[in-house]
Amino acid sequence: MTTGTLTIDLGAIARNWAFLRDQHAPGEVGAVVKADAYGLGVARVAPALRAAGCRHFFVATPDEGLALRAILGDGPMVAVLDGLSGRAVPGVTPVLNALDEVRHHQGEAILHLDTGMNRLGLPAAEVDALAADPSMLARVRLRYVMTHLAAAEDPTHPLNARQRDAFAEACARLPRARRSLANSSGIFLGEGFRSELARPGAALWGINPTPGQDNPMEPVVGLRLPILQVREVPPGATVGYGGAWLATRPCRIATVAGGYADGIPRAWDAGGWGVLHGTEVRLAGRISMDLMCFDVTEAPRARPGDAVEIFGLGQDPDDMAQAAGTIGYEILTRLGRRFRREYVGA
Ligand SMILES: *Cc1c(COP(=O)(O)O)cnc(C)c1O
Repeated sequence: MTTGTLTIDLGAIARNWAFLRDQHAPGEVGAVVKADAYGLGVARVAPALRAAGCRHFFVATPDEGLALRAILGDGPMVAVLDGLSGRAVPGVTPVLNALDEVRHHQGEAILHLDTGMNRLGLPAAEVDALAADPSMLARVRLRYVMTHLAAAEDPTHPLNARQRDAFAEACARLPRARRSLANSSGIFLGEGFRSELARPGAALWGINPTPGQDNPMEPVVGLRLPILQVREVPPGATVGYGGAWLATRPCRIATVAGGYADGIPRAWDAGGWGVLHGTEVRLAGRISMDLMCFDVTEAPRARPGDAVEIFGLGQDPDDMAQAAGTIGYEILTRLGRRFRREYVGA
């Protein structure tokens, strides 16, 4: 194997979904599978979630909606979070993000109220206008009214309670409909954040919805990168671009397939590590586009074809994100257009 292998545990995804459903009971729990299920492959992930009992799916764009409808066939709801921008897309439920879209829509839809994110959704003034003239909803079959939390991963953030209260207050002034509030982290904010339908994404794939506390989710992804070459490097020699890494003793350096073009952030090189034959090995030098090097002096059996385990043994996308100054979401969604995906646990 000359490219990396991303292992995706569909059984763990199904168990994570069931765990969130139990956490959120009696409300229902859907699944946000935008961006190709955060890079994990919606064609395999969505059917696994449906088999686990999921009946409500969210994607970001009309094209993602069409593709998901073809994958799932009839039955489950497929909602498009960013709306349809006037396009007719059969079989999907649009999210209406502005009063103008409400006025022009006919049929089933989800109404998105902005309660403090200031990104998408009807701002307060448009909610007022709609409450004053609910006949604008006459041709809309409201499946849900939703809002999106801006800071749910920080339970101490004052925006959480403010958005919860603004949502309840706005819903009370509109025609009755079922509500959808929490994302992954919102499910863990407690009682007041339950609704008829939660919309988790990240936690399904093992990202920690409660940063700063133990991760309640089961890990989902593994990543192994194959060694292409192993070489002896004498003291005083440098490794990689910029000569940024200096051998201070005789070293063995393994060059593996995988770099920033595969979604490994270049900023990871400060603290990056992996596991080879049970031994922790550290990155040596800068991550390049397609390759990176590890100091495998302490793993003397290293051979071309062996794999350095990046995710799976004690390290996950959240750890890489922390070392690279980003979030696990960004790591996952960028990983591996070139990696082979291997699905297990189906
Ligand atoms: C992406 C998204 C979600 C899912 O969020 P996670 O934090 O991944 O659980 C839910 N709702 C909306 C509107 C989103 O854009």
